[in-house]
Amino acid sequence: MSLVQRLARPEILALPPTDVAAAQKGAPIGSSIKLDANENPFAPLVGGSLAASINRYPEPQPAALRQRLADLYGVGPETLWVTRGSDDAIDLLVRAFCRPGIDKVAVVEPTFSAYAQFARIQGAEVIAARLTEEFAFDADAVFAAVQPERPKLLFLCTPNNPTGTPVDPNDARRIAAALPDTLVVVDEAYGEFAEEPSLAGEAAGNLVVLRTLSKAYGLAGARVGCAIADPEIIELIARVSPPYPLPSLSIAAALDALSPERMPLHAERVARLVAYREVLADTLRSVAEVRSVRTGGNFLFLEVDDPTGLAQRLAAAGIRLRFRPNAAPGGVRVTVGTDAENAAMLAVFGVASGDKPSRRVELVRDTKETRIAVAIDLDRSEPRRISTGIGFYDHMLDQVAAHGGFALTLACAGDLAIDPHHSVEDVALALGAALKQALRDKRGIGRFGFALPMDETRAEVLVDLSGRPFCKFEGTFETEAVGGLPTQMVPHIFRSLADAMGAAIHVRVDGDNDHHKVEGCFKAFGRALRMGLALGGDASALPSTKGML
Ligand SMILES: *Cc1c(COP(=O)(O)O)cnc(C)c1O
Repeated sequence: MSLVQRLARPEILALPPTDVAAAQKGAPIGSSIKLDANENPFAPLVGGSLAASINRYPEPQPAALRQRLADLYGVGPETLWVTRGSDDAIDLLVRAFCRPGIDKVAVVEPTFSAYAQFARIQGAEVIAARLTEEFAFDADAVFAAVQPERPKLLFLCTPNNPTGTPVDPNDARRIAAALPDTLVVVDEAYGEFAEEPSLAGEAAGNLVVLRTLSKAYGLAGARVGCAIADPEIIELIARVSPPYPLPSLSIAAALDALSPERMPLHAERVARLVAYREVLADTLRSVAEVRSVRTGGNFLFLEVDDPTGLAQRLAAAGIRLRFRPNAAPGGVRVTVGTDAENAAMLAVFGVASGDKPSRRVELVRDTKETRIAVAIDLDRSEPRRISTGIGFYDHMLDQVAAHGGFALTLACAGDLAIDPHHSVEDVALALGAALKQALRDKRGIGRFGFALPMDETRAEVLVDLSGRPFCKFEGTFETEAVGGLPTQMVPHIFRSLADAMGAAIHVRVDGDNDHHKVEGCFKAFGRALRMGLALGGDASALPSTKGML
């Protein structure tokens, strides 16, 4: 008898199997005349981008998203089931395996409450092992507490919500090997923020992994997650799934957010949140009312002296933290937010962040020709990660950021098969717009910048971040293109930047070698920008006698 035949609820095994492969192959919506599902034939009466074909039922198991998630987690699609958030995956597992009044579910307290919640709804008894006093994961203690109870499911949350505790993958493997008649479900909801490698690629036999797009990919409202497991387990939970679990809008949002040109920005965000998490932890460790600080995922877990008093101050400031008295008497979980949100939270703890307002912005610019995502931070020099599809242009923009002294993540997917024109121009427009936004009200900046780098080539760029777009480009090129970047586009790039930034940009270049000349323009532009963007002594001063820029 297979694992599933031994462990599954008999009444679920008795259900007609779902033909998962057939569900996969379902004819693409839109390509056939659909008179089979009692849908309304008219377009939905909703505006704008919501006007997807939501008058039609979605695919029962969205094939493209299933494949995309499988690629994302490095597994085969037959081992993955897309669920309505990973909450739904927890529920499906409990319902597929636990008979009311008979079967048990084990958890390691304090942890995510949904495991016990779904178990109780199903009428399954909850067995609680515990983390140590110090909230460490003790694999032997967990095994000893769980093994005699023979639970159908054991949930291991890593990093653990709310304590941040990681579970060593070796411990998870050992426990799974030692409990052959228990499904060991490793919930990696915060896996992207963790140092421990994912177990997704090892999900087989009695080891199951849960993932979600809610946390790292910013799609909590779309409700998209998945279970990764042995195909026989996937086939079983498919039987328990509702017919159309995922709304078309959520499927579309997930595919959009996970498209390749969005991935660099996701990575930048995750790294940023992790870095800020540690800065916040260090800051809060020096606050007297905070007794302990732990970190994990995109959150901190604090123990405070007076949770009631803190709750009142938070309410007055309009800030919500999650109090977890069941985890620890003064337990509070704090999600890492934006710089401004974090500063407001710290203020409630009496920490004045003398920090200037953040000069980081994100911008998404999508048209029929290009899809661009940019993150820029004028007060950090890393990371720099640029992919426009044109190697030489990437190199040039990298020069701008490196010499400009700012962090730049930029990815573009454009219609390069037609011509580089759209990508080149739209990237310049997006970069210019992002720079303009990041400058905010321009208080404290240098405003003017200039540079004169010399080589065999000589390039001069003068910049005035004046609010008034103007571009003058003096110089000519002999060759048609440099490294896939049409030289004709070079003046055009500076014009697009000037337009989008609201800046005056003067470029003058001469020399012998077009490669050097192009590179000289971008480097000099970066240098000029560095001076213009730099914050000077007086952060409130506007570098204009008019009082506005
Ligand atoms: C947030 C969270 C989930 C739920 O994620 P959804 O995909 O939004 O349902 C699952 N597990 C843990 C530990 C979480 O913190």
